[in-house]
Amino acid sequence: MNMSQTIQTVSANRSIPWLLDAVADGYRLSREEGLRLMESHEFVAVGQAAGRVTTRMHPESYRTYNIDRNINYTNICSAVCDFCAFYRTIKSPEGYVLDRESLFQKVEQTIALGGNQILMQGGMHPKLKLDWYTDLLSELRSRYPQINLHAFSPPEIYQFTKVNRLSVREVLTELKSAGLGSLPGGGGEILVDRVRKKITRGKVLSDDWLEVMRVWHELGGRSSATMMFGHVETLAERIEHLERLRQLQDETGGFTAYICWTFRPENTGLSHLPAKGAYEYLYTQAISRLYLDNIPNIQSSWVTQGLNVGQLALLYGANDMGSLMIEENVVAEAGTVHFLTLDQIRASIEELGFEARQRDVFYNLVPKELEQFAIDANRAACKANSGST
Ligand code: SF4
Repeated sequence: MNMSQTIQTVSANRSIPWLLDAVADGYRLSREEGLRLMESHEFVAVGQAAGRVTTRMHPESYRTYNIDRNINYTNICSAVCDFCAFYRTIKSPEGYVLDRESLFQKVEQTIALGGNQILMQGGMHPKLKLDWYTDLLSELRSRYPQINLHAFSPPEIYQFTKVNRLSVREVLTELKSAGLGSLPGGGGEILVDRVRKKITRGKVLSDDWLEVMRVWHELGGRSSATMMFGHVETLAERIEHLERLRQLQDETGGFTAYICWTFRPENTGLSHLPAKGAYEYLYTQAISRLYLDNIPNIQSSWVTQGLNVGQLALLYGANDMGSLMIEENVVAEAGTVHFLTLDQIRASIEELGFEARQRDVFYNLVPKELEQFAIDANRAACKANSGST
């Protein structure tokens, strides 16, 4: 028996309860062990182990949330993703690129509601040159220095390299010096090329997605990581995705957080696939918590799962309720999106016995007086909205 067969045999002999106990105490799962857990359907035991890991990594008495706004600066995209109901071609009459004034208004509304960040993502526009983006970042930076610019996921960055014939490093360096604050982990889907080639065309493959993140981390930047699952991938490919993220995090340490959600088939080219429900979401997130022992934070995806499941996610590996999401278009186009008020987000944390605290993108707590300002501003906005309908 060679070494790898010996390791596989030892791993196969470990019972699921042994594995869950060990991982809760800091043991690192192998690919094979991750897959065995994924296939075991030990929903409650896996959730409890994920909860223990969360408590070990986050012993504090609070759980967090963020306030930001999702601004989709364009829906024009040169890629075709079968799961996407948001994109339009450059010739479509429904295609748009937001003008500066509309963008500035959205940022100002975010600040008025106590937000500290904008998440700016778009389609992969085939024509906009890099100076369109750097000018935009510079202007936003000088007008709103208190706002973190969390913008441009790896597929967009990769598109910028193609349109401008520049390297990833050159593009990211220019964006950073123009004011880019952090990189969102969008467009990760499943980081396995068999899957990517099946559901996307004209979009970055796994190695290039990871390379954008690697270079950004080498430049001192921070980013989030994502997984969209429940479409054409196998369980082994979900684990492979987690493995690729974990390996890169070992190398760079640049991921601050991970968020996963189930694919929403409505209005997409994959509408024949059944939508995955709460079980699949919570179970996969819990296993992600067990597997990703080097990514500190996991965000609940209540935007796709709704309030009740989003709250339960805090018991299945998440330590953060993600963002208030003042605006969300991409998931909304696919027909399934949930909206929560700030009070609902805070109440869902407090009902579990935690203090609810606002944070920034780097997971620093926002000072209490600013947190209270946001609470009051959001209550006033909700009151004004309900009065006007
Ligand atoms: S998911 Fe992104 S890259 Fe794919 S078609 Fe939609 S906008 Fe374009």
